[in-house]
Amino acid sequence: MPQFRPLVFSGVQPTGSVHIGNYLGAIKRFVEMQQTHDCIYCVVDLHAITLWQEPAELTDGIRRITAAFLAAGIDPAKHIVFNQSQVAEHAELAWVFNCVARMGWLSRMTQFKEKAGKDRENASVGLFAYPSLMAADILVYRATHVPVGEDQKQHLELARDIAQKFNLDFAAQIAARGHGEAFFPLPEPLIQGPATRVMSLRDGTKKMSKSDASDYSRINLTDDDDTIVQKIRRAKTDAEPLPTEIAGLANRPEAENLVGIYAALDDRSKAEVLKEFGNGQFSTFKTALADLMLAKLGPIRNEMTRLAADPAHIDRVLADGSRRARAIATPIMDQVRDIVGFIRGDRG
Ligand code: ATP
Ligand code: MG
Repeated sequence: MPQFRPLVFSGVQPTGSVHIGNYLGAIKRFVEMQQTHDCIYCVVDLHAITLWQEPAELTDGIRRITAAFLAAGIDPAKHIVFNQSQVAEHAELAWVFNCVARMGWLSRMTQFKEKAGKDRENASVGLFAYPSLMAADILVYRATHVPVGEDQKQHLELARDIAQKFNLDFAAQIAARGHGEAFFPLPEPLIQGPATRVMSLRDGTKKMSKSDASDYSRINLTDDDDTIVQKIRRAKTDAEPLPTEIAGLANRPEAENLVGIYAALDDRSKAEVLKEFGNGQFSTFKTALADLMLAKLGPIRNEMTRLAADPAHIDRVLADGSRRARAIATPIMDQVRDIVGFIRGDRG
């Protein structure tokens, strides 16, 4: 495998409200990656419409996720922040990948099964093809590292399979054009830390999700202090006190979830959190967790509110990021056209 320049890509959908699962599993990690890598962070609006979105709400949602990125500490001048639909190359490469990926591969994706539910015949074709667009999002920049939550692991594996099949299917063209053995890198998922899968506050076996009908299942980044305190107070727990060791969290999904959230917010390990709170009552721990949440999330919420008052500024950030993203994606997509055998004409 040839050396590819390390480059980080990841995205968040502008669907519903952004929650601490998205923050701890993804956005907080995006912020950290800026120290060591060049990063491209995308508001994936093309993914959002795989399920019906009210157009005005979609527009608001795009700005809200962008505001969350900025408020959390992503620097749109040093790195790239943009919305997917402004860079047409994503959709274009996704089409090529639709013709590389196999029906059987996509049929195994658990996210499609979960989101389509029982009425699969009525799901959009886009929802089925979603992972192929996700592969294109990453590979249209030849990105090498993708920080995501645990739920996206399967899609990342599929992106690697697509990259590998493209490299093999077009091996002769790729070599002839001087790209060696591989035109696309096999992107690596970065799924790390104590909160790679934050669970619903109502049901410790279900992922916290934007699309959950119950708002009490999640903490939104826009929730006010009272709402956060209420939601933590009402979060499902069991009757036992917290254990002192990690092993004691086995088969206690709600307890494990809250300990993981605490650890991730405070940049500690679960073991350290248990050392402090083990043997204590849940109510004491919940109070400490709510306090920590207010301290860590309050400033982000306040900055999101400030940014929401200036949508023109957000739109300028997205336009600038899109221009810079396009400058990377265009020559890569041109090379894909050549490799596949299309005629480029006056595209240059
Ligand atoms: P939806 O229900 O619309 O799919 P979502 O909450 O899953 O929304 P996405 O935009 O699909 O949010 O995901 C954005 C990022 O957040 C991804 O990297 C995903 O892995 C991560 N993520 C989503 N939910 C969680 C969670 N509960 N815990 C940790 N990470 C999560
Ligand atoms: Mg999701």
